[in-house]
Amino acid sequence: MRPKLVVGNWKMNGSRAQNATLLAGIVEGLGGAKAAAAVCVPAPYLQQCADALAGTPLAWGAQDVSEHAGGAYTGEVAAAMLADFACRYVIVGHSERRAYHGETDELVARKALSALGAGLTPIVCVGETLAQREAEQTNVVVGKQMSAVLALLDDAALARIVVAYEPVWAIGTGKTATPAMAQAVHAQLRSQLRERSAAAGEQVAILYGGSMKPDNAAELLSQPDIDGGLIGGAALKAADFLAIVDAA
Ligand code: 13P
Repeated sequence: MRPKLVVGNWKMNGSRAQNATLLAGIVEGLGGAKAAAAVCVPAPYLQQCADALAGTPLAWGAQDVSEHAGGAYTGEVAAAMLADFACRYVIVGHSERRAYHGETDELVARKALSALGAGLTPIVCVGETLAQREAEQTNVVVGKQMSAVLALLDDAALARIVVAYEPVWAIGTGKTATPAMAQAVHAQLRSQLRERSAAAGEQVAILYGGSMKPDNAAELLSQPDIDGGLIGGAALKAADFLAIVDAA
């Protein structure tokens, strides 16, 4: 059995004062949780996480990373810098970065490789738009996004990633994939991983993201290939985030 993992993606939200309250609230309620939990915060708040969360069960990470190790890349953050702040995770290829920053499948794969090189766990996001789903292209789109990662990572590296299936039409919209719809894509992703490496197919956690809330989490998380959640809006309230962790 793969251990369950619930990750909050704060996106571009927070302030030092708000974060202090939210982090303290999550840590306080996390006591007996079976699932692992983490928050991925805006880069300026990583030090605050390192200070507040060291020694607690709540891990932390970033929302993006450069494909480059360092140098003249103004505004970018290197994987080694994230490791310097004791990040465990970094999200790569979130659909908002693909859509607003032109990130390609190949760039996302290079970012995953860069994260792994610094000892971080990349959370590789894949997912289709509404138009792609309606055109029955979901499996093709998601398969191609995953293939770019398979092409760049060796078997050992592949077994260390986390995948997040986030249908774009479900993000921040209140629309959720039904458990059966999500499970079907997760099963496809797992068989794609398994075809390349049995170990990766067995070990890689595949999270679901897209309007996961306390009231729909348990059903989604009970699917055989859904190993956790990547949570946006509901991760900004300690009680909601904790309820999802408890459901996992
Ligand atoms: P919502 O939970 O707000 O739909 O966001 C999901 C998401 O994009 C997490 O990365």
